[in-house]
Amino acid sequence: MLDKITWLGHDGFKINASQTIYIDPFDLKGELEPADVICITHDHYDHCSPGDVAKILREDTVIIAAENCRGKLKGDVRWVRPGDKVTIKDLTVEAIPAYNVNKKFHPREAGGVGYILTMDSTKIYHAGDSDPIPEMEGLDVDIAMLPVSGVYVATAEEAVEAANMINPKTIIPMHYGSIVGSRADAERFKELWPGEVVIMEPQPS
Ligand code: ZN
Ligand code: ZN
Repeated sequence: MLDKITWLGHDGFKINASQTIYIDPFDLKGELEPADVICITHDHYDHCSPGDVAKILREDTVIIAAENCRGKLKGDVRWVRPGDKVTIKDLTVEAIPAYNVNKKFHPREAGGVGYILTMDSTKIYHAGDSDPIPEMEGLDVDIAMLPVSGVYVATAEEAVEAANMINPKTIIPMHYGSIVGSRADAERFKELWPGEVVIMEPQPS
């Protein structure tokens, strides 16, 4: 499954499974594959970007977005709150809470989410903009995308706390390299976490 995942920089990913799925598309460039499904974690401009969504939207694209993006997105949008589950053909998307515990940018009440995507017998977790939170404990996933930049989200050290709660087979660090944080944060995380860490190269599309 790892070879089907493209990091688009920051928190953006494209997954080429039986459906083409984007998560938090932002600052997309180049020739773009249209999306079957787009998942948006919360309303901040670098995660919920209507201009970028428009670049990959087809008539039948389904958008799954946190309630707090209402008013920003058009089309076939399934609004979700933490705990909601949406099924699109062979893909199941579950919204997981995402919030800060020691920073002010993402209060729990704001309703931001992360997602667990289940497809092709693999579970992928995108944590959204979050610190380590109790709801991560025991999440059963194969691959976890965790923020490591600090400031608005978990630091590399806090991401290790999250990783300890989730214990996935593979972790892809994210949320660095454009708005905040650098590759050094991902590398620090890789040094601190004994399991498999894949530091991806950002691809334009
Ligand atoms: Zn945010
Ligand atoms: Zn963010």
